[in-house]
Amino acid sequence: MPGRQLLMTFPVTATSHTLADYRARGGYGTLSKVLATMKPEQVTKEVAASGILGHAARPSPPAASGRSCTSTTVSRTTCAPTPTKASRHLQGPLDPRERPAPPRRVDGDRRLRAAGEECLRLHPRRVRPALPAPRRSDRRGLRRRLLGPSILGTGFALDLVAHRGAGSYVCGEASGLLTSLEGRKGYPRNRPPRLTVRGLYQRPTVVNNVETLSNLAGILSMGAEAFRKIGTAKSPGTQLVSISGHVARPGVYELEFGYPVAKFVYEDCGGVLGGGKLKCIVPGGISTKVLTAAELEPVTYDHASFQKAGSGLGSGGMIVIAEGTCMVRLLQVMLRFYHHESCGQCTPCREGMGWMHQIIDRIVGGDGRPGDIDRLIEISEANDGTTICGMGDAAGYATVGILAKYRDEFEYFVEHKRSRCDGRLEVPVHA
Ligand code: SF4
Repeated sequence: MPGRQLLMTFPVTATSHTLADYRARGGYGTLSKVLATMKPEQVTKEVAASGILGHAARPSPPAASGRSCTSTTVSRTTCAPTPTKASRHLQGPLDPRERPAPPRRVDGDRRLRAAGEECLRLHPRRVRPALPAPRRSDRRGLRRRLLGPSILGTGFALDLVAHRGAGSYVCGEASGLLTSLEGRKGYPRNRPPRLTVRGLYQRPTVVNNVETLSNLAGILSMGAEAFRKIGTAKSPGTQLVSISGHVARPGVYELEFGYPVAKFVYEDCGGVLGGGKLKCIVPGGISTKVLTAAELEPVTYDHASFQKAGSGLGSGGMIVIAEGTCMVRLLQVMLRFYHHESCGQCTPCREGMGWMHQIIDRIVGGDGRPGDIDRLIEISEANDGTTICGMGDAAGYATVGILAKYRDEFEYFVEHKRSRCDGRLEVPVHA
């Protein structure tokens, strides 16, 4: 096992998702304890003391946003934050596109408790067969007084509404998610105002993904001090990592922060499929810069170590790339995706993605020009910091990251009008 585990602590069986099994494992025990014994400020303080960072592509402490959300709303006329007793929303993307949601129920978060209506919204962004199960069981939970106007008879009110999305990548961005939830095109919004001031339906809204929320029950159950002993000083806890690509044992693993990444790839996941050699990994979703096999050796699974190596943890969607894979074709797939998913609001992203896609298609088609590689870098750099959301930047990071390490493959492709690696993305067959 890759370190200690906090979320994947039970065997997955045909009934492990049911409310009965969850309660038999002690589920909602923390909720009862917290509702009976803790004030909202104590909960916020405990979560802050745990040092947990949000398990999203751009991590931030969830307690900080919870605090600002509970205390302010915004004036529609002056945009000034003011104290409020009005309703608040906690928004939890249940289905981050780059990896599956964790096998745990929403439990034990009382940070938003205050006078007024409170609403927890879960937003599964893709329609798929797994989603009806939590929705059915959540309704059962409601009947059993785990949700509603007076949870467990304490007077604490929390509603949970599950929404299905249509599957747009940019709706994984917090403000785009809220806009789509309001029934409009999922366009990300310019900030300020922050979402904790003016979010869903103009109300203060905290957006944390379900993996982050799932950790809160554990923190409140074991206490912040015990939680901080798991992982590293700057990245306490664990993270769910979905590993795919040319790897022998793909799947979702829970990794303790600080765990050696090479050990994880080579030992826990069985190394490269078919006994091949590792070329590189995409560490945390395609927006993170690739790390070569040699660069990976000293890296441990935590934010500081990945930053030191020149990349990031991102969303925990790791892709293993085997030796022999064509990096030109890989970048083509990535840029096609970014172009397709650009919402089109910002000129640098809308036009830049299209331009980059056109250039990479030209190279792969055998019509590459000598200046094409530098042009890809120029467009990437021009996009950096000029767009509403991070997607414009992200495509540039991925492109610059691959070109910095595998430029020779691109030059070969332009010069010889074919791939040095036979243009394959599939894992090569090894004897
Ligand atoms: S950066 Fe791209 S995806 Fe993000 S808001 Fe602008 S056009 Fe839309």
